[in-house]
Amino acid sequence: SIVMAVTNPEAPTYLRASMIIVPTDTPGFNLVRNIPVMGHEGSDYFSHGEILLQNCRVPVTNLLGPEGQGFVIAQERLGPGRIHHCMRWLGICKRAFDLMCARANKRIISPDGKTLATRQIIQEWVAECAAEIQAARLMTLQAAWKIEHLGQKEARIDVSLIKFYVANVMQKVIDRALQVHGGLGMTDDTILAFFYRHERAARIYDGADEVHKSVVAKRILSSYEGREVR
Ligand SMILES: Cc1cc2nc3c(=O)[nH]c(=O)nc-3n(C[C@H](O)[C@H](O)[C@H](O)COP(=O)(O)OP(=O)(O)OC[C@H]3O[C@@H](n4cnc5c(N)ncnc54)[C@H](O)[C@@H]3O)c2cc1C
Repeated sequence: SIVMAVTNPEAPTYLRASMIIVPTDTPGFNLVRNIPVMGHEGSDYFSHGEILLQNCRVPVTNLLGPEGQGFVIAQERLGPGRIHHCMRWLGICKRAFDLMCARANKRIISPDGKTLATRQIIQEWVAECAAEIQAARLMTLQAAWKIEHLGQKEARIDVSLIKFYVANVMQKVIDRALQVHGGLGMTDDTILAFFYRHERAARIYDGADEVHKSVVAKRILSSYEGREVR
């Protein structure tokens, strides 16, 4: 595991923490439990461990990067990490969208053989989801291009925009795909219920929606300060 710990409480705020590699078989490393999330404890990658470190010692060579750079390392990971989340969420959107369209075409809902796909409200969901997924994909590509060619600082607003926008598009697409599946959508016979549970956290981790919206809005509003607009 990678432990982020305050190693120098006297240092300036952003230079207090370090990252340390702690093998999970080190004496004093205790996995208390996997914290249940949305009713599931999960395992391996899909789990969230509560860890108790008691007199747990590792060699100083286990330091990951320089001492005091834990916060900086974590921050540097965040920009590309958020783009990576968005790419994964776009994949989930595509999977949910495919399932929704296939189900709408297949599910017969009237004695004369009409399918869900013949209903205008379902068509509206399909069209809206298609538009929003495409917008989300293009915004993500733009943010990725900016971070690659102009650097983290220049891409900051684009990354915040996609972090909340793509997460919300994904939740809408999953929700609609689940709705189209009716009772089947609530079961674990399709992957939609898993996505619905597991991906709710997307609007919270790596910065809650509200924090990213605030970052974006403050930057935009400050660019209008003292600017005459007619
Ligand atoms: C499934 C999951 C996995 C996670 N994985 C990791 C991980 O790998 N590494 C890691 O470091 N952390 C991880 N986290 C932690 C995550 O980053 C935090 O939960 C998140 O930053 C929110 O912090 P908080 O839980 O303390 O909520 P709080 O800070 O208490 O915020 C609660 C709510 O208040 C609102 N809010 C907060 N701040 C503001 C603000 N400035 N303006 C307006 N509204 C605001 C938001 O709606 C927010 O959801 C994970 C969380 C979850 C749920």
